[in-house]
Amino acid sequence: MHVLGTAGHVDHGKSTLVQRLTGIDPDRFAEEKRRGLTIDLGFAWLQLPSGREVGLIDVPGHERFIKNMLSGAGGVSVCLFVVAANEGWKPQSAEHLAIIDILGVRHGVVALTKSDLVDTDTLELARVEIEDKLSVSSLAGAPVIECSALTGEGIDELVAALDAALEAAPPAPDLGRPRLWIDRVFTIAGAGTVVTGTLMGGSLRSGDEVQIAPEGRRARVRTIQSHKKEVTEVAPGNRVALNLVGLQREGAERGDAVIAPRGWRTTSRVEALIRMSPHEVTGRPHELTEKGAHLLYVGSAETPARLRLLGATTLASGDEGFAQLHLRDPLPLGRGDRFVLRDAGRVMTFGGGVILDPAPLLARRGDEGRLALLERLRNADHDEALRALLDSYEELDVEDALARSGAPLVPEGVVHLGPRLVAPLRLGRLLAQIREALAGHHRARPLDRLVSREQLRADLGLEPAAFDALLARSDEVVEEGAGVRLASHEAGLDRHQRDARDSLVRQIEATGFQPPLTSQLNAEPALLRALADSGELVRIDDFYLTTAQATEARTKVRQRIEEEGPVTVAQIRDLLATSRKYAVPLCEWLDSTGATIRRGDVRLLGPHP
Ligand code: GDP
Ligand code: MG
Repeated sequence: MHVLGTAGHVDHGKSTLVQRLTGIDPDRFAEEKRRGLTIDLGFAWLQLPSGREVGLIDVPGHERFIKNMLSGAGGVSVCLFVVAANEGWKPQSAEHLAIIDILGVRHGVVALTKSDLVDTDTLELARVEIEDKLSVSSLAGAPVIECSALTGEGIDELVAALDAALEAAPPAPDLGRPRLWIDRVFTIAGAGTVVTGTLMGGSLRSGDEVQIAPEGRRARVRTIQSHKKEVTEVAPGNRVALNLVGLQREGAERGDAVIAPRGWRTTSRVEALIRMSPHEVTGRPHELTEKGAHLLYVGSAETPARLRLLGATTLASGDEGFAQLHLRDPLPLGRGDRFVLRDAGRVMTFGGGVILDPAPLLARRGDEGRLALLERLRNADHDEALRALLDSYEELDVEDALARSGAPLVPEGVVHLGPRLVAPLRLGRLLAQIREALAGHHRARPLDRLVSREQLRADLGLEPAAFDALLARSDEVVEEGAGVRLASHEAGLDRHQRDARDSLVRQIEATGFQPPLTSQLNAEPALLRALADSGELVRIDDFYLTTAQATEARTKVRQRIEEEGPVTVAQIRDLLATSRKYAVPLCEWLDSTGATIRRGDVRLLGPHP
């Protein structure tokens, strides 16, 4: 589906042609009738001989109402450019062509109308002039059809040419992120608030939850009308009226947008490629500096904007350059959005551009990294744009990356760390950081087999989800319970430490099941930890047993229970020839390993031998 928009100088016959084509008078309001000009956007629709249906926006041509022209042009894919044969090319013809050119409308037809008022020589002169003007614009080569809305001459040819232009125009893309720039808001008794606009970016269904940007109010789509028919679903590229639940009449106005809750960034800072219109199109040269007061138009919105050029300090007609724009009013914008710039002082359209990053950081002039990013974004599809943003920012929230690139899904091969995406470079750096941190720990405590996971995470300042994902990706790190180590790290004892260990084992074993308490052992804490980690010693409360002793205690106790049934702590104390001081923690340790189970005052056989 497409939306056809008119363009052309005031009084050149746009509205009359629309009425001739559609039978609908687009000049709806009393004031428009009285003053005989189109103040607001007029809407009509048309079925072409091919069966194709098209929504028609009739825009005003008067200088003062150029803002309304812009709000209508936002969703237009095919243009009906009107020039009156008796007047020829006019200043607003030039400005409208500049706007069409900036918005990238490449499909259109020129109606050289009021042919009934002039002779063939004049018609021919007008045609040559028009073709010359179009040749430097996006409408270069568009057919010029001589016609008269009054006599009907040439109207069939005009309709056929429009049909062909609509056939040639690519359909509006469906990227799963609907946005409808609101051009009218009104209330219908009993139904509530209705907004109209051209739907782009994705489909809408009745029942959908939507947001009204920039305020962010939630609303629900109750009913949808397109071309006066009620529908349950509508595809992008259509004129649409939405009846919204939860929205007051005062809750929205032209320039707001109905958006899907996800997929758009409501932003007041964007980076863009600025395109200065050729002076052959605008009719007068212009030099853009950062000083001027500018107005930015996108969709049906208008906002004052300040401009910071990132490369050259000035741009002349026909030039291109990257800039950061600061908008007074936040707007729901995305990569690829086209906008028009007017000089607020001289009241003229001098150019516009296309948004490359809808939410950049503050930038300085001459930031080479940023310019390289913008150069890359300029020619990118949405997947490549996501990768470019990620390479530049290194780490992005998933939702943010999708909204800023316009990608419907995270492209294959891009690395997730929890809720964030990371660039390959950053992933490599994070893995290296983990490796270095672990190596540092291992160097400082060579006897410690493991480093606490939590400690390492805190050292690196990573969120739990990202840290877990990183560990899972590393083939150099081994996880053991709550600890981690480098796979290459095996805690080892030197000769001196081996001697220390042997003397420790002797000390512990010398007194059977009444070993010295930890505080009485003459041993380095690091050595004790290392021996416990490696399984040579078993820590029980505030003393250690050798592994052989621990096994002996288990075997003896379990054997006794098997032979004689449940045993008390006192019986275990006697069995192991120890004191109550040791017997109680020993029993608790046996319980904890599953060797025994406590039932009141006695121990039963546990599940683990
Ligand atoms: P717009 O401002 O471009 O929408 O122009 P209108 O459609 O309002 O037309 C302006 C004037 O031109 C009106 O008085 C129309 O009646 C007249 N007009 C429009 N089309 C034709 C035409 O083909 N032939 C003649 N003779 N007059 C026309
Ligand atoms: Mg009109």
